[in-house]
Amino acid sequence: MISFDQAADQIARLDATDNYHWKTEQAIEELTTCLMRNSTDEAEARRAISSWLSAQRECPTPADLIAALAEVREAAPAAQHSPTCKKCLGTGFQLVHQLATPTIGGATLVQDLGSGNDGWKAADAFRDQWDIEHKAWIANHPKPEKGQYYKPERRQYVAEAARRCDCGAGTKGKR
Ligand SMILES: [Zn+2]
Repeated sequence: MISFDQAADQIARLDATDNYHWKTEQAIEELTTCLMRNSTDEAEARRAISSWLSAQRECPTPADLIAALAEVREAAPAAQHSPTCKKCLGTGFQLVHQLATPTIGGATLVQDLGSGNDGWKAADAFRDQWDIEHKAWIANHPKPEKGQYYKPERRQYVAEAARRCDCGAGTKGKR
Protein backbone atom coordinates (compact mmCIF):
# COMPACT_ATOMS: atom_id res chain seq x y z
CA MET A 1 0.00 0.00 0.00
CA ILE A 2 1.23 3.50 -0.81
CA SER A 3 -0.26 6.87 0.12
CA PHE A 4 -3.05 8.49 -1.90
CA ASP A 5 -0.72 11.38 -2.83
CA GLN A 6 2.00 8.99 -4.04
CA ALA A 7 -0.58 7.17 -6.16
CA ALA A 8 -2.01 10.46 -7.46
CA ASP A 9 1.48 11.55 -8.61
CA GLN A 10 1.83 8.35 -10.65
CA ILE A 11 -1.71 8.46 -12.07
CA ALA A 12 -1.07 12.06 -13.18
CA ARG A 13 1.65 10.72 -15.50
CA LEU A 14 -1.12 9.01 -17.49
CA ASP A 15 -1.79 12.53 -18.78
CA ALA A 16 0.45 11.38 -21.62
CA THR A 17 -2.12 8.83 -22.84
CA ASP A 18 -4.66 9.64 -25.57
CA ASN A 19 -7.89 9.50 -23.61
CA TYR A 20 -6.80 10.59 -20.12
CA HIS A 21 -8.56 13.95 -20.53
CA TRP A 22 -11.87 12.30 -21.30
CA LYS A 23 -11.84 10.49 -17.95
CA THR A 24 -14.21 11.79 -15.31
CA GLU A 25 -12.91 12.91 -11.95
CA GLN A 26 -14.51 9.83 -10.45
CA ALA A 27 -12.70 7.53 -12.88
CA ILE A 28 -9.34 9.16 -12.06
CA GLU A 29 -10.04 8.79 -8.35
CA GLU A 30 -10.92 5.14 -8.90
CA LEU A 31 -7.59 4.58 -10.69
CA THR A 32 -5.71 6.41 -7.94
CA THR A 33 -7.33 4.33 -5.19
CA CYS A 34 -6.63 1.15 -7.13
CA LEU A 35 -2.94 2.01 -7.54
CA MET A 36 -2.72 3.06 -3.88
CA ARG A 37 -4.19 -0.20 -2.60
CA ASN A 38 -2.38 -2.61 -4.90
CA SER A 39 1.17 -1.21 -4.94
CA THR A 40 3.72 -2.70 -2.56
CA ASP A 41 5.75 0.51 -2.61
CA GLU A 42 6.17 3.71 -4.58
CA ALA A 43 8.97 2.32 -6.77
CA GLU A 44 6.72 -0.52 -7.88
CA ALA A 45 3.89 1.90 -8.72
CA ARG A 46 6.31 4.05 -10.73
CA ARG A 47 7.63 1.02 -12.64
CA ALA A 48 4.11 -0.15 -13.45
CA ILE A 49 3.08 3.26 -14.83
CA SER A 50 6.36 3.62 -16.79
CA SER A 51 5.87 0.18 -18.25
CA TRP A 52 2.28 1.04 -19.25
CA LEU A 53 3.33 4.33 -20.87
CA SER A 54 6.06 2.63 -22.86
CA ALA A 55 3.69 0.06 -24.36
CA GLN A 56 0.14 1.50 -24.49
CA ARG A 57 -1.65 4.49 -26.02
CA GLU A 58 -4.79 4.50 -23.94
CA CYS A 59 -5.42 5.18 -20.29
CA PRO A 60 -5.54 1.93 -18.26
CA THR A 61 -8.57 0.64 -16.38
CA PRO A 62 -8.21 -0.43 -12.72
CA ALA A 63 -7.93 -4.06 -13.92
CA ASP A 64 -5.12 -3.01 -16.30
CA LEU A 65 -3.30 -1.37 -13.40
CA ILE A 66 -3.51 -4.51 -11.28
CA ALA A 67 -2.15 -6.57 -14.19
CA ALA A 68 0.66 -4.05 -14.81
CA LEU A 69 1.64 -4.16 -11.12
CA ALA A 70 1.66 -7.96 -11.17
CA GLU A 71 3.87 -7.88 -14.25
CA VAL A 72 6.55 -5.63 -12.77
CA ARG A 73 6.45 -7.66 -9.55
CA GLU A 74 7.10 -10.86 -11.53
CA ALA A 75 9.80 -9.20 -13.62
CA ALA A 76 11.94 -8.11 -10.66
CA PRO A 77 11.64 -10.64 -7.84
CA ALA A 78 15.40 -11.11 -7.48
CA ALA A 79 15.98 -7.42 -6.92
CA GLN A 80 13.78 -7.55 -3.84
CA HIS A 81 15.82 -10.30 -2.19
CA SER A 82 19.15 -10.18 -0.48
CA PRO A 83 21.87 -11.69 -2.74
CA THR A 84 23.70 -12.83 0.42
CA CYS A 85 20.68 -14.64 1.92
CA LYS A 86 21.78 -18.15 2.93
CA LYS A 87 18.25 -19.55 2.78
CA CYS A 88 17.48 -18.71 -0.84
CA LEU A 89 20.90 -17.61 -2.24
CA GLY A 90 19.21 -14.48 -3.54
CA THR A 91 16.71 -16.29 -5.73
CA GLY A 92 13.80 -15.33 -3.51
CA PHE A 93 12.68 -18.94 -3.25
CA GLN A 94 13.53 -21.68 -0.78
CA LEU A 95 13.19 -25.36 -1.47
CA VAL A 96 10.91 -26.88 1.13
CA HIS A 97 10.56 -30.58 1.89
CA GLN A 98 7.23 -31.93 2.99
CA LEU A 99 5.70 -35.26 3.85
CA ALA A 100 2.56 -35.73 1.83
CA THR A 101 -0.14 -38.29 1.20
CA PRO A 102 -1.33 -38.70 -2.38
CA THR A 103 -5.00 -37.98 -2.98
CA ILE A 104 -7.00 -38.07 -6.19
CA GLY A 105 -5.68 -35.21 -8.29
CA GLY A 106 -3.29 -33.89 -5.67
CA ALA A 107 -1.66 -34.41 -2.31
CA THR A 108 -2.39 -33.66 1.31
CA LEU A 109 0.33 -32.17 3.45
CA VAL A 110 1.18 -34.38 6.40
CA GLN A 111 4.17 -32.65 7.90
CA ASP A 112 6.49 -29.79 7.02
CA LEU A 113 10.08 -31.09 7.04
CA GLY A 114 11.59 -27.62 6.82
CA SER A 115 13.60 -25.68 4.28
CA GLY A 116 17.27 -25.59 3.31
CA ASN A 117 19.67 -28.11 4.88
CA ASP A 118 17.23 -29.09 7.62
CA GLY A 119 14.67 -30.04 4.98
CA TRP A 120 17.17 -32.11 2.99
CA LYS A 121 18.31 -33.93 6.13
CA ALA A 122 14.79 -34.69 7.30
CA ALA A 123 13.82 -35.85 3.80
CA ASP A 124 16.85 -38.18 3.54
CA ALA A 125 16.14 -39.61 7.00
CA PHE A 126 12.55 -40.28 6.02
CA ARG A 127 13.57 -41.98 2.76
CA ASP A 128 16.17 -44.15 4.57
CA GLN A 129 13.65 -45.17 7.18
CA TRP A 130 11.10 -45.86 4.47
CA ASP A 131 13.59 -48.13 2.65
CA ILE A 132 14.28 -50.12 5.82
CA GLU A 133 10.59 -50.54 6.60
CA HIS A 134 9.76 -51.33 2.99
CA LYS A 135 12.40 -54.09 2.81
CA ALA A 136 11.22 -55.53 6.13
CA TRP A 137 7.64 -55.49 4.92
CA ILE A 138 8.52 -57.23 1.62
CA ALA A 139 10.50 -59.88 3.53
CA ASN A 140 7.39 -60.66 5.57
CA HIS A 141 5.00 -60.87 2.63
CA PRO A 142 4.78 -63.48 -0.12
CA LYS A 143 5.63 -62.42 -3.64
CA PRO A 144 2.58 -61.04 -5.45
CA GLU A 145 0.98 -63.21 -8.13
CA LYS A 146 1.93 -62.43 -11.72
CA GLY A 147 0.19 -59.23 -12.80
CA GLN A 148 -0.45 -58.15 -9.24
CA TYR A 149 1.39 -55.63 -7.15
CA TYR A 150 2.26 -55.13 -3.54
CA LYS A 151 -0.32 -52.92 -1.98
CA PRO A 152 1.54 -49.81 -0.93
CA GLU A 153 1.85 -50.26 2.81
CA ARG A 154 2.83 -46.71 3.45
CA ARG A 155 1.22 -43.88 1.63
CA GLN A 156 3.40 -40.99 2.66
CA TYR A 157 6.11 -39.64 0.40
CA VAL A 158 8.50 -36.71 0.33
CA ALA A 159 7.41 -33.78 -1.81
CA GLU A 160 9.46 -30.74 -2.73
CA ALA A 161 7.93 -27.31 -3.00
CA ALA A 162 9.15 -23.76 -3.58
CA ARG A 163 8.37 -21.17 -0.97
CA ARG A 164 8.94 -17.45 -1.23
CA CYS A 165 11.83 -16.40 1.03
CA ASP A 166 11.23 -13.78 3.71
CA CYS A 167 14.59 -12.03 3.27
CA GLY A 168 13.37 -9.42 0.76
CA ALA A 169 12.16 -6.07 2.03
CA GLY A 170 9.74 -5.99 -0.89
CA THR A 171 8.10 -9.19 0.31
CA LYS A 172 6.99 -7.72 3.61
CA GLY A 173 3.48 -6.39 3.90
CA LYS A 174 0.96 -7.49 1.30
CA ARG A 175 1.82 -10.46 -0.83
ZN1 LIG B 1 16.22 -15.28 1.02
